[in-house]
Amino acid sequence: MFDGGILPRDENGYNAGVEAYSQAGFGDFHVKEFNFDAGTAYVAGTETFEASDGQKQIVAQERSNGHCNHSRGVFAAFMRLVTGRNDIECVEVKCEALGDSACEFKVAPREVLENEEFIF
Ligand SMILES: [Zn+2]
Repeated sequence: MFDGGILPRDENGYNAGVEAYSQAGFGDFHVKEFNFDAGTAYVAGTETFEASDGQKQIVAQERSNGHCNHSRGVFAAFMRLVTGRNDIECVEVKCEALGDSACEFKVAPREVLENEEFIF
């Protein structure tokens, strides 16, 4: 984990942040990919608090760029912290609440997400 409460500014720091978020009870999240130089990461999670059963029916009607906005913000914030970049965003590409088997998040610079048409 992170020594003295400081998140190391590297891949280990990002992994530690996501692990701490999972252990705090927000879901079972894992970092699938990480690229420090590109500022990108791919995070998948199951049993996520935002996609709990009670919310499924509500969000099924408004399928959009994902649903788990709190987690999106956290994964983008961790990347901003470890890389020192302020152009990092996160989109949720799959969501348990929308019927997918897991919630999956793509973290990348805004320009990359715009080019891939995740952000309009
Ligand atoms: Zn989700």
